[in-house]
Amino acid sequence: PQPNPQVGAAVKAADRAHVFHSWSAQELIDPPAIAGAEGAYFWDYDGNRYLDFTSGLVYTNIGYQHPKVVAAIQEQAATMTTFAPAFAVEARSEAARLIAERTPGDLDKIFFTNAGADAVEHATRMARLHTGRPKVLSAYRSYHGGTHQAINLTGDPRRWASDTGAAGVVRFWAPFLYRSRFYAETEQQECERALQHLEDTIVFEGPQTVAAIILETVPGTAGIMVPPPGYLAGVRALCDKYGIVFILDEVMAGFGRTGEWFAADLFDVTPDLLTFAKGVNSGYVPLGGVAISRKIAETFAERPYPGGLTYSGHPLACAAAVATINVMAEEGVVEHAANLGACVIEPGLRELAERHPSVGEVRGVGMFWALELVRNRETREPLVPYNATGDANAPMAAFGAAAKKNGLWPFINMNRTHVVPACTITETEAKEGLAALDAALSAADEHTV
Ligand code: PLP
Repeated sequence: PQPNPQVGAAVKAADRAHVFHSWSAQELIDPPAIAGAEGAYFWDYDGNRYLDFTSGLVYTNIGYQHPKVVAAIQEQAATMTTFAPAFAVEARSEAARLIAERTPGDLDKIFFTNAGADAVEHATRMARLHTGRPKVLSAYRSYHGGTHQAINLTGDPRRWASDTGAAGVVRFWAPFLYRSRFYAETEQQECERALQHLEDTIVFEGPQTVAAIILETVPGTAGIMVPPPGYLAGVRALCDKYGIVFILDEVMAGFGRTGEWFAADLFDVTPDLLTFAKGVNSGYVPLGGVAISRKIAETFAERPYPGGLTYSGHPLACAAAVATINVMAEEGVVEHAANLGACVIEPGLRELAERHPSVGEVRGVGMFWALELVRNRETREPLVPYNATGDANAPMAAFGAAAKKNGLWPFINMNRTHVVPACTITETEAKEGLAALDAALSAADEHTV
């Protein structure tokens, strides 16, 4: 693509004049103007091209502009752009069928939403109505979305400003051995103690008051902490013991990200409700949803479910989901994510960790990896303090600038960088990204002690 700085400047000027951006102090940001994107890359109007190690916000699992999905959206737009949710339409029926065929166990009914946060809102509402109980338990290191209930369930600092008396939300610590809350030294200890802590929380809250436990199967934005073997099965057993609904939030982890259709498959667990969005259609058109177990679906067999959305199961979004899931199946995208993750990304990151003192831990699975950056490997002091801004965040800013200088757009959250490219990335592209990461980590190393 030809650079066109003049158009870029106009796009930026209109943005600065009129667009109010998420999670930002409006006068302190400088959003880059983007001219186009394809596969694992995007480019600006000034001739800079970047390998996207963020997949947008971890959602373009099949990369940008997949021609088959673009064509399916065009075709759907030409035949039936939209139709109200109370009717049966082909794209919606087919999307629900393809999703239900892939979700674990008996999660066979699909309630469609517009995105992830409203999927979480509806899953928790279903759990409360199903049990008649008021509380939902969620983990401190988590992100569940930006709407009222979802942000209150969230553990990360984005919650703080909106924490206006989260009625019925109780938080607990999920396992994370590298920064154990349980003084554990092995994964097994971490698992056992985290389960004991969760059971204590349930007992002291009063099991008869707890409607649901919600967990990201593999927590994403909070740090990609793959749970130790046995943890999710243990949570399942606690939910069964106390009659609690088990919700797995797979908005980020689902649809190939972990090298399985759903991360729950890695652990052989079946929740009662599973939320999804993002990868369901790689975000080409907004779509999310809740996959519902037979037991919970039965609650609403003779009694109306009191909730809905104008665009529930929007045909354009559902047609994009049908095409995306078919592309993923035909092209073996899920298997590719597992293989490339295990054979290229993981060994590449471990090799970087050996050479760069700023890397405290490498963890992840599939196309879902985190590097925990530290000032000191012995003390594990994070490279920047928790939720740092301004000067305190300078080491991570230096890391990010060095990555971009080398043509890599990195995912950065606090003291971590996540390696979450499109699940369709090639080996050559992955190696190009790892080389850029190598250079950027040298900038981080300068801040180690
Ligand atoms: N749940 C998880 C695990 C997420 O990662 C996110 C978004 O990043 C959400 C929910 C919210 O999704 P959305 O931004 O589509 O509302």
